[in-house]
Amino acid sequence: MPPILRRVLPPLLLVLGLLGLGAALFLRWFGGPSTSNQLIREFLLNPSLRPQVSNQALRACPNAPFVLPSSGLIGLLWGDTARPYTPLRRHTGIDIFGDGASSTVPIFAVYDGYLTRLEDWLSTVIIRHDDPLQPGRTLWTYYTHMASRDGSQSYILADYPPGTRERFVSQGTLLGYQGEYAGVGAAPIAMHLHLSIVTSEADGSFRNEALIDNTLDPSPYFGLPLRLEDDPPRPIPCRP
Ligand SMILES: [Zn+2]
Repeated sequence: MPPILRRVLPPLLLVLGLLGLGAALFLRWFGGPSTSNQLIREFLLNPSLRPQVSNQALRACPNAPFVLPSSGLIGLLWGDTARPYTPLRRHTGIDIFGDGASSTVPIFAVYDGYLTRLEDWLSTVIIRHDDPLQPGRTLWTYYTHMASRDGSQSYILADYPPGTRERFVSQGTLLGYQGEYAGVGAAPIAMHLHLSIVTSEADGSFRNEALIDNTLDPSPYFGLPLRLEDDPPRPIPCRP
C-alpha cells in the first residue's frame, strides 16, 4: 500500500463508519421516510383505484371495541412524519380520505360516549368514553374537518350545535360529513376525517390534541395496524 494511502485510509474509514452509525441512529429514532402522501396523491388522482384501497365505515375487527368512523383511504397514520408533519411534530391520529363530494361521506361515533362541541368549534366534535381497554380510565375521540373549505358551512349534524355538552351518543351514531376545512388561513387540504384518541387531564378534561404525547396509539382500539412503523397495506387488514 502506498504511504499516502496508509496515512489517509484509517481516518477516512473512521469518518465513513461514523456517518453510517449516525444514519442508522437517525433512522432508528425518527423512522424511515413516510410514503403516506404518495398513497394519498394516487387516491386523489385516480378515482377507479379508490374502492380497492378503502376501508369501510362501521366495521370492527375481532376483539376490537371501536368501529371505523368513516369510509375511505386511511392515508396518514398515527405518528406519521409525512408533510406537513415532521419527526419532531408527528401526526396525532389517523386521516381517512373518503370517495365522494364534500359533505357527502358520513362520519360515525366509534364507541358509546358523551359528545361535546365547544362554542367556537365549526368543524370539530369530541366524545368522552370510558376506556374499553382500561375500564375506569377516561379517554376522548376527536373528529375534525367537518366543514366546507371556506368555513361558511358546518357539516356537523344540527343535533349537535356549538355549545353542546355531554350529549350521549351510541356507537355508530351519525355525527356529520367529511369536509375540507382546516382553519382560517390554513393551507388547503383534501377532504378527509381526522380522528385521534386523546388522553385526559387529572380532572378528566381532554388534553391538547395537537401533541402526540397527549394521544394514544389507535391500533388496539380498532384492531388495525395504524402506526407509521407498521407500514400497512391498503385497505388495512385486521391485526392477526
Ligand atoms: Zn390528521
